[in-house]
Amino acid sequence: MKCKRCRDVAVIEIRRHNSAYCPACFITVFRNQVATAIDRWEMFAPDDRILLAVSGGKDSLALWDVLLEAGYRAEGLYLGLGIGEYSDRSAEVTRRFAETRGAALRVVDLRDEYGFDVPTAGAKGSRSACAVCGLSKRYVFNRAALEGGFDVVATGHNLDDEAATLLGNTLRWQTEYIARQSPLLPTAEGMVRKVKPLHRLSELETAAYAFLRGIDYVVQECPLVGGNTQLRYKEAMNSIERTSPGTKAQFFLGYLDRGMPLFRTQERPELQPCEQCEQPTPGRFCAFCRARAQILGERLGEPPADREIVRELSEEVLPAELYRVDAT
Ligand code: AMP
Ligand code: ZN
Repeated sequence: MKCKRCRDVAVIEIRRHNSAYCPACFITVFRNQVATAIDRWEMFAPDDRILLAVSGGKDSLALWDVLLEAGYRAEGLYLGLGIGEYSDRSAEVTRRFAETRGAALRVVDLRDEYGFDVPTAGAKGSRSACAVCGLSKRYVFNRAALEGGFDVVATGHNLDDEAATLLGNTLRWQTEYIARQSPLLPTAEGMVRKVKPLHRLSELETAAYAFLRGIDYVVQECPLVGGNTQLRYKEAMNSIERTSPGTKAQFFLGYLDRGMPLFRTQERPELQPCEQCEQPTPGRFCAFCRARAQILGERLGEPPADREIVRELSEEVLPAELYRVDAT
């Protein structure tokens, strides 16, 4: 196979584009896709201060590499979730990447800052560990960005993540969640802009990019997610993709182009400062403070109905586990 751009020997085939590339051209094509995402959605300007949530996995490290190489001011934020060896290794890999690139990295540890970790939360609260983990990430990313004066928070969500989330929301016709699934969530009162510059690139492509760039990343999946619904949706999408290359991109990018405008009818709820932590919330206390109080066995005014928590959590990526909250 020959590289589509330079006719050199190709090392990676992108079936949905009917193309193959040599290492150097693949790296260029990959970076161009990120640039297209940033441009089309006006995610950030060259001088904006970007807080990039970095997990130590291939996606967020690949994105950090792309942003730094393009000259963006991208600082890393690692959130310690307390998931044993998995978290220790992720922290170490992230720290090493930052060091070798001379990039700034902020570290927030859930247990040190907020008194609980993800495994404890899963065992003690009424929500699954995955639900509390997702909630904590959204909360800490936003809070750290506000407090650090950043213009935007970026995450490494890729095309596979987004297509799987859209599939899950569509299978249940969760129209409110579908309407809010976007590679760009604009600023609202107390909410920093959030962007997903890798949404046009598949998991396979980010893995290839990380490999070709010599990035050391954590390959292991989180040990707590075993068999979760999101993973099953990814497998389902991949099995369709094998026989019909391009389906995943058509599904998600087609949604952005033609589906999203049809769902964009709902107004965002008005937000006010949480009475506990002053972060924005539609109610008296934010979902994070309510979850935390429950995990720590503390009281926070009147406990709100779980239905409200689910609604508030739906702001972006929604692991399917969250829907179970209502049923219990
Ligand atoms: P995940 O929810 O694990 O699929 O991760 C999606 C994105 O969230 C990653 O690409 C990162 O940008 C961010 N992320 C996940 N885990 C962490 C973490 N522990 N610390 C900082 N960012 C994270
Ligand atoms: Zn709060």
